[in-house]
Amino acid sequence: MENIRIELTSAPKAKPTVDPLPFGKYFSDHMFLMNYEEGKGWFDPRIVPYGPFSLDPSCMVFHYAQEIFEGLKAYRRADGSIWLFRPADNFRRMNDSARRMCIPEVDVDFCVEALKKLVALERDWVPTQEAASLYIRPFIIATDCTVGVHASKTYIFCIILSPSGNYYPEGLDPVKIAIEDEDVRAVRGGTGFTKCGGNYAASIRAGERAAGRGYSQVLWLDGVHRKYIEEVGSMNIMFKIDGTVVTPVLQGSVLPGITRRSILEVCRDWGLSVEERLISVDEVIETAENGHMEEMWGTGTAAVVSPVGQIEYEGKSLKIGGGGIGELTQKLYDELTGIQWGTRPDTRGWTVKVCD
Ligand SMILES: *Cc1c(COP(=O)(O)O)cnc(C)c1O
Repeated sequence: MENIRIELTSAPKAKPTVDPLPFGKYFSDHMFLMNYEEGKGWFDPRIVPYGPFSLDPSCMVFHYAQEIFEGLKAYRRADGSIWLFRPADNFRRMNDSARRMCIPEVDVDFCVEALKKLVALERDWVPTQEAASLYIRPFIIATDCTVGVHASKTYIFCIILSPSGNYYPEGLDPVKIAIEDEDVRAVRGGTGFTKCGGNYAASIRAGERAAGRGYSQVLWLDGVHRKYIEEVGSMNIMFKIDGTVVTPVLQGSVLPGITRRSILEVCRDWGLSVEERLISVDEVIETAENGHMEEMWGTGTAAVVSPVGQIEYEGKSLKIGGGGIGELTQKLYDELTGIQWGTRPDTRGWTVKVCD
């Protein structure tokens, strides 16, 4: 791949001053772009002023959602240096999504380098506020101008950056989630394991209904039996049942979260018993009722670890472990954010320095 060309903005924006910062609302001065054409591959990698695309109304992404994305963060440490967390894993997963969606793969190492270059250029946009970070959104869209259904022959790859606060305004306060028994998010053989916009489009209705009843997220059941727990809106889900950490096994319909994988690795290193298996909604309700369910939490880049204090199923509302933050949940949050912010040792080589 050729060198990344840089075109600087002539009109830098004012940095947001609101405290706390909202999630994903403000965007930095520059973005990374490259194009793809069949026979030519990815070309013209460049960092340019952040701004709108001009796309033909027939552009394929508008009609058939041939699109994928990723989500990660850059963290500013106390000494001012800026770091990423397992960025290569995000671009590797982007390629897993790409293969499923017939989108051309990207070069993982090149993307990490491009991202580091973009974040270093935008370093002043990495927030200094407590628990805030620079949310990074890489995505690829299909740009052929035709409403025929086929794999596009042209694509745009883009990375935008958003200085963001906590994903949940509640912070580490326990969230309330509703178990969805009507809509389904994904099925095996479908696109559940990919980060594609279509998965989210199909999830909005249940999310809106749950929000209307005061729940911040939806807990999905499997699409075939409507019986096994899959994941939360944008997080994987974990339980501590009788001392064992239990999380749904990955079988194609659940998104393989990088936070999920990191947490499981930490739990195993701590000597905890960990099970990746099927968990039925009946088991969740039963153990929540009889007190065997000690803790429940979601995992994802945006919130890192998010305690679940209450669940709703078939009109019934249940408290989890007293409704507060579980001991292990808190410990895991402290460990992972400690590694990300450099206040705890990174013994696994997960963090990548962008600049001092
Ligand atoms: C991104 C995402 C997650 C969490 O993945 P991380 O890599 O941990 O951020 C979980 N579920 C869904 C549906 C997602 O899109």
